[in-house]
Amino acid sequence: MPITEIYGPDDFANRPQGHLASSPRPAPAPTARALPTPSLGWTAEIERATAPLYERVKHVIPPIEWPLMAPTIKAINDLKKARGAVILAHNYQAPEIFHCVADIGGDSLQLAVEATKVEANVIVQCGVHFMAETSKLLNPDKTVLIPDSRAGCSLAASITGADVRLLREKFPGVPVVAYINTSAEVKAEVDICCTSSNAVQVVESLNAPSVIFLPDRYLATYVASKTDVKIIAWKGACEVHERFKGEELRAFREADPSVQIIAHPECPPDVLAEADFTGSTAHMINWVREKRPRRLVMITECSMADNVRAELPDVEMLRPCNLCPHMKRITLANILDSLLTLREEVTIDPALADRARRSVERMINLKN
Ligand code: SF4
Repeated sequence: MPITEIYGPDDFANRPQGHLASSPRPAPAPTARALPTPSLGWTAEIERATAPLYERVKHVIPPIEWPLMAPTIKAINDLKKARGAVILAHNYQAPEIFHCVADIGGDSLQLAVEATKVEANVIVQCGVHFMAETSKLLNPDKTVLIPDSRAGCSLAASITGADVRLLREKFPGVPVVAYINTSAEVKAEVDICCTSSNAVQVVESLNAPSVIFLPDRYLATYVASKTDVKIIAWKGACEVHERFKGEELRAFREADPSVQIIAHPECPPDVLAEADFTGSTAHMINWVREKRPRRLVMITECSMADNVRAELPDVEMLRPCNLCPHMKRITLANILDSLLTLREEVTIDPALADRARRSVERMINLKN
């Protein structure tokens, strides 16, 4: 059924002002545990050592660029061992990160689950701040680093914990589901989290006639189209996915009727109406592996198309795609710096973390 009610910051006269979750913060000073910077020159030894990694990305990184990246890639991989660290990378990270330094790659749900299984003492989260917070929630005794803590998210920044409390006052007794793209402060106020992989399942698991679903209005619209539960939504949006237009997809289809179009559910409804398949990043990747389309329009962040093409070079990727400026704050250079200096460490108030963790674990346990 369609969304019947949607709320935003302007709908609450008594909303506290001046606070946005996931707002940029100054970088902390290097710690006393910093290691010396390794030499980053291009040598025959580095060329030999990184040749197997270049094989993975040769279809998406030109040979002329590799000597600029390979020394840092080798230094990161050497330092990971010295630090006892593991690198988690979201599907939207650039190919030189996703395919060449990450130990675990995936969507938000995969990373959240894998974060619970790692034995390393240090986790470097290559993604945005809410993802690093989620890893910290699930690994409270480990050092969780994010190479640039300014890597935010328009969805996480659209809502605060106070907003959730105002929604609860307005709809007493109605359960609240938060997309994983929220701050720990928001997760602490809700009943359960979800990702785009499991949003419908999570909503229906609550066995309630109405559910408050936040903060993505478009994911809420998509969920509402798949369930009879009444969805009360929030006016947040992903600044990357909301820019796609249904008419640009129609133009691709008219130019080549055999083209396949797949889209992420954070896109507006007119975009999803043009798609042959809608799913989370993990579901999209599995769809491409299984169907092996000749020509594909992948409606999501640009780096994911590059990462899929690196793995499946026979699939011709047509643009459009949009870059996420927050994801692109993570670079090889700041990953190396993070491992050298053990910054920027993610910390969460323990009492708030206990409440936020419950929402994430409730989702993970539902999956099992
Ligand atoms: S792509 Fe959208 S949802 Fe993902 S981190 Fe960037 S702004 Fe947030």
